[in-house]
Amino acid sequence: MKNIPQHARIVIVGGGIVGCSTAYHLARLGFKDILLLEQGRLTSGTTWHAAGLIGQLRPNRNMTMMSHYGIDLYARLEQETGFATGWRACGSLYVAQSNTRFRMMRQQASLARRHGVVCEEISPREAQDRFPLMRIEDLVGALWLPEDGKANPTDLCMSMARGAQQQGVSIVEATRVFAVHTEKLAHRPSVRGVRVRTCDGEQDIACEILVNCTGQWARQFAALAGVNVPLYAAEHFYIVTGKIEGVHPMLPVMRDPDGYIYYKEELGGLLMGVFEPVAKPWRVDPIPDDFQFQLLNEDWVQFEVLMKHALQRTPCLETAGVKMLLNGPESFTPDGNFIMGEAPELDGYFVCAGFNSSGIANSGGAGRLMAEWIAGGEASMDLSDVDIRRYAYFASNRRALAARTSETLGLHYAMRWPKYELQTARPLRTSAIYDLLAAKGAVFGSKNGWERANYFQKDQSIVGRPCLDKPHWLPLVQREQAVTRGSVAVYDQSSLSKILVQGRDALALLQRLCTNDVDLPLNGMCYTLMLNQRGGIESALTVIRIQCEVFMIVSGSAQAVRDTHWIVK
Ligand SMILES: Cc1cc2nc3c(=O)[nH]c(=O)nc-3n(C[C@H](O)[C@H](O)[C@H](O)COP(=O)(O)OP(=O)(O)OC[C@H]3O[C@@H](n4cnc5c(N)ncnc54)[C@H](O)[C@@H]3O)c2cc1C
Repeated sequence: MKNIPQHARIVIVGGGIVGCSTAYHLARLGFKDILLLEQGRLTSGTTWHAAGLIGQLRPNRNMTMMSHYGIDLYARLEQETGFATGWRACGSLYVAQSNTRFRMMRQQASLARRHGVVCEEISPREAQDRFPLMRIEDLVGALWLPEDGKANPTDLCMSMARGAQQQGVSIVEATRVFAVHTEKLAHRPSVRGVRVRTCDGEQDIACEILVNCTGQWARQFAALAGVNVPLYAAEHFYIVTGKIEGVHPMLPVMRDPDGYIYYKEELGGLLMGVFEPVAKPWRVDPIPDDFQFQLLNEDWVQFEVLMKHALQRTPCLETAGVKMLLNGPESFTPDGNFIMGEAPELDGYFVCAGFNSSGIANSGGAGRLMAEWIAGGEASMDLSDVDIRRYAYFASNRRALAARTSETLGLHYAMRWPKYELQTARPLRTSAIYDLLAAKGAVFGSKNGWERANYFQKDQSIVGRPCLDKPHWLPLVQREQAVTRGSVAVYDQSSLSKILVQGRDALALLQRLCTNDVDLPLNGMCYTLMLNQRGGIESALTVIRIQCEVFMIVSGSAQAVRDTHWIVK
């Protein structure tokens, strides 16, 4: 057998950019005895063929903070490790084709500025001065982020791997983990080790903590240990052209979300990629272990529609020779957010995967947060939107995931309307009175797979358009409110999470976990919070004492797994 240790405190599985960043940051926090295992070569999964855009304009706070930290790290990594990253702070542009899009961009810009990102609003003409190859007649405005940039994903990953090794992390390639050993400790299953296969044979490695950083393999790898990681791969495309006059290495990255396209300089030509609104799930199951440094077949039919948008934005593409159409798979999650944190099914089993085509930009931030999470036993800040416990156990249903993936890839450049509801893979869970509600004109939204009546509209022929101003449903909801206040209303609470805590110690346990006094009279109820070490809110819940030693907890529709894990852990 090659030189593989028989014990490591932490085993990281997956040598893509996310695994290498997690190893690097764990080592920086002072952890010793870390082993990273990769079934092929480092970067050989998805990382090697990424486009390398590193941008900070993100739809929410956590992603913004992660990518902002990433830029800070990538700018200094080469100096620290002595290994080139290809990082260039060439800046980036976002252009808007409509006033509404520009308004939405300005909202995102103000979120970004709140977290220290430099972001200016500029005119189409000023955008063209920075990216002269584009037509601007149809544009209404643009954003300029001078600190954004690009990197070579392979070099960036190798630089983080080198930085991890310099701090004592062991990295072993050509070693596939094919089993996870567990043990029941204090009624909870915990990670105890892994079994690996190399060209020399098989071996066990004992460990206390396992981090699943296996990218698009994360769902099938997690299933080996009974852990639920709902993600699914989609085919993902860009073209690379030959040299184009005027294209130079410091040409800014340019994104035209209304055209679903982006550009970056690549070897004197343009790399132009797409986030099509209806994507193509990669219908293979399981993903082969030997899918290393491999690509999928070209699909010009899928690409062509957006190629038309690109020809319109940058007419120089008409004469630039296309050297290649790259089709590489990347994993997407049901809500377009990453999957991070400790698996509720198995103590000591952490997951960092599902990067929805922004794993290069976010691996720095995600690796750091993951390391802090492992060190502290809980997240170092509110990471609810990426917390693995937001998903119910059925969320890994492959048919539903494939259907949803066709929609989530496009979210990247979609208009993020307030209260927007995803449409695919629905309905999944319906309450006993779903048909009754539908007959009354319910317009449903979906939470954790549950169909819930958002509002009632008798005239179904009126289709409200999503907007940033007063929504068409506001008067309908106002009417509902007035009836609730002045008369009687019945709410279907089937979707809410319900947990029974029962037994001799039930009261003592809840008294320790809840902020309110829950020593209630029989059938009494109270609204309370469960807090973490930081004083942050883990859950807001209603506790009802239904018998002397039996309490029912009612909380949010997507809280069941998280609350149960918090209570039993
Ligand atoms: C066409 C395209 C363009 C992209 N462009 C960008 C971009 O411009 N900017 C950006 O931020 N992101 C981009 N991305 C997304 C980015 O590439 C990914 O999010 C990122 O590479 C994911 O990294 P990872 O480490 O999670 O996965 P991977 O790089 O796939 O690494 C996972 C590793 O785990 C290994 N593994 C799996 N199972 C096992 C096992 N059982 N035992 C041992 N090892 C195992 C695999 O071999 C693999 O090497 C793009 C993606 C694509 C497809």
